[in-house]
Amino acid sequence: MSLISKKNQMVSIKKLSFLLCLFLMAFYIAVSCQIILDPSTKNKEHKVALYLTFDDGPCAGSIEVNLITISDSIKVNVFIIGSHVFLNDTMKSYYQSYLNNPFIEIGNHSFSHANGKYRKYYENPSLVMKDFLMNEDTLHLKNKIARLPGRNIWRLKKRSRDDFAGGNAAADSLAERKYSVFGWDIEWLYNMELSEEDTSNEMVAMIENMLKQKTSLRQWNIVILCHDQMLENKYDKDALQLFIRKIKDKKNYSFEHLSDYPKSLSN
Ligand SMILES: [Zn+2]
Repeated sequence: MSLISKKNQMVSIKKLSFLLCLFLMAFYIAVSCQIILDPSTKNKEHKVALYLTFDDGPCAGSIEVNLITISDSIKVNVFIIGSHVFLNDTMKSYYQSYLNNPFIEIGNHSFSHANGKYRKYYENPSLVMKDFLMNEDTLHLKNKIARLPGRNIWRLKKRSRDDFAGGNAAADSLAERKYSVFGWDIEWLYNMELSEEDTSNEMVAMIENMLKQKTSLRQWNIVILCHDQMLENKYDKDALQLFIRKIKDKKNYSFEHLSDYPKSLSN
């Protein structure tokens, strides 16, 4: 090869390298712009499943739980106490309203609710088991979704969590009988010193913070504890409805039933 053609070859290689660099730079800029400008990429947020759960019904507030689920078309779980259902015909009718409402999924919260004596109740796991079975039979419950009275204990197929207040052995017994025992990640903020608006904002902030800190039992899934009784006062009813509206406006959130927990929602 002559010296001139060798020189030409070197020039060609340099040109090619330069063009390749240019191409790579252009490609990099195009990809970066796509990420910055494409709104679907920019706003890609993970979907979040919220589970609103109402304990200790039926009671006077249950009629409001029923109405809110229908007016706002949101899924809700209720944990029912059998002894409350059989208090009188009004409570029976509230329970019947729950049965007739497709937005409501009914879970087992025991027949007696420990009669308020939790420590003694949990000393005898077999009696706790009987109490739950009695509730299931008398209310003709269709699923095995349960929550322990006065205890935030979880027993699910893949996850467990204790609150160390006693009740673990009872939860184990229920799990052995194929119950899914649900605790909660966040409790509704019962603080009437705040305005209704501030309560709803605070609840949203607690949820967002939990997602950031990844402290819920399952990521992107948050179980919220409320009580039917809270809807007996206008303050909490208004705060709850404001909260529901704010969550609905967020678009990447949805209200789900515990039978679907943990829900994996992708965009
Ligand atoms: Zn309770």
